[in-house]
Amino acid sequence: MSASPVVTAIETQLKRFAPVDIAADVNALPPKEREALSKLVAAARLMDGLFLDQVWAGNTSTLTALAADRTPEGAAELHYFILNKGPWSRLDEDAPFLRPQFQVPPKPPQANFYPEDATKEEVEAWFNTLKGPVADDAKGFFTVIRRRPGQPGGFVPIPYPVVYQNTLVKAAALLRDAAALTEQPSLRKYLQLRADAFLSNDYYASDVAWMELDAPIEPTIGPYETYEDVWFGYKAAFEAFVTLRDDAETKKLGVFGAELQGLENTLPIDAKFRSPKLGALAPLRVVNVVFTAGDANRGVQTAAFNLPNDDRVVREKGSKRVMLKNVQLAKFDKVLTPISGVALAAADRSKVSFDAFFTHILMHEVMHGLGPQQVFGRADGVRSMLKDTYGALEEAKADISGLWALHQLADKGTISAEIARTMYTTFLASSFRSIRFGLTSAHARGQVLQLNYLLDHGAVAVAADGTFSIVDAKIRQAVADLTRDIMTIQANGDYASAQALLKKMVIVRPEVQRILDRLKDVPVDIEPKFVSAR
Ligand code: ZN
Repeated sequence: MSASPVVTAIETQLKRFAPVDIAADVNALPPKEREALSKLVAAARLMDGLFLDQVWAGNTSTLTALAADRTPEGAAELHYFILNKGPWSRLDEDAPFLRPQFQVPPKPPQANFYPEDATKEEVEAWFNTLKGPVADDAKGFFTVIRRRPGQPGGFVPIPYPVVYQNTLVKAAALLRDAAALTEQPSLRKYLQLRADAFLSNDYYASDVAWMELDAPIEPTIGPYETYEDVWFGYKAAFEAFVTLRDDAETKKLGVFGAELQGLENTLPIDAKFRSPKLGALAPLRVVNVVFTAGDANRGVQTAAFNLPNDDRVVREKGSKRVMLKNVQLAKFDKVLTPISGVALAAADRSKVSFDAFFTHILMHEVMHGLGPQQVFGRADGVRSMLKDTYGALEEAKADISGLWALHQLADKGTISAEIARTMYTTFLASSFRSIRFGLTSAHARGQVLQLNYLLDHGAVAVAADGTFSIVDAKIRQAVADLTRDIMTIQANGDYASAQALLKKMVIVRPEVQRILDRLKDVPVDIEPKFVSAR
């Protein structure tokens, strides 16, 4: 018996996400900490329901209907619904995927943060009438906007603890249980303060405690990212990352910290553009995921994040970058390795290494803090001068100067020569991985720019059979040259040159497209199974 067309269609979509076990070494924790961890996983599970409700008012009833549907079609659709946290395929520009009887509307760009029947203009006009704390509240991270009863055209902000009361009370109780169990003071403090925040809607103190967290268990739970609010980017979606700190990898980062000023002083740019005194490095943590939920587990998986988003906390305490090592390893095994089998020349495939992949991602994060941040001789920031071109150029800068920096460190013996030997090829394979996410993302635009530049400078070659390889004699110079070109545009705040460079380079060329076409059967991302959370 062959499967129904509905099942086949969903399975084709699902095949793009390779199922993978995500595990962390929970047995290394003392028993009390393990108990605390299981309370945290329970609290994290509650974020799934909150997030579903935030994405669309109809999500919960649709989920219930799918769960009750015992046909093979219902089972397949339920699986893909859970992966996407709603009835729209996030990899396919939010195309709805349920059978017609579910009558799924287009994905609402206002999510469930604003009234379903309101328009953006109407809400914006209302925002514009508000001032001071009332405006802050309405546009704040932690309120939803509803129509004011009995007042046509009027709106009212409702705080999260009112909207999501039942779930937040339960989540807060679980965080307090975990706080009572852990023997780590900084973790206890964060959990107590975060439990308070769930009920008071004031997240400031718990964000500060999160920045100061220093414990084997490293949880991140609450309303954070604002991507689901497509209208304004104001409203924070609930998510959770329950993770364990990887001490060995985190220690490696300390080595980088001591090298930063030395790297800045030798950047391949005009000496006057170098910064004689770098600001403090945002703390970097390497962790292994035990469990993620809500906004942290929908569609393409997060491999690293930088929080909090609250400007006040960032100004006072900075922000923290968290690298999810076991998630990155899974992506490397399930996506990058098969890509290299298709995209790279046979001799280059053996040079693709996880160590190079991971270390380069770390260096990418570090390099965001190096190079020109201000336009030379002016008070303007590079970001404001380069406007819409900033994102792609800054991502390209972090990548390409990351390669440059790692080679410098390998020369000094700070990192292993093996990384310098394998990183260019690993980076080349990874370009195809990023470009597949689509040129709407700044990362992908930055990647295609770099790939085209390296092709134009003879540092990457395409063989007759279409496979790509690194040209060893040319790659190092081309990497330094592109680092110089981008950083010089940034130092000059040269918007016209930035536009011209992107216009010329952000194009998927035929030889790149040929590889993308051959990658049809290679997964785009992973579907994690959190085996340590059981
Ligand atoms: Zn970046």
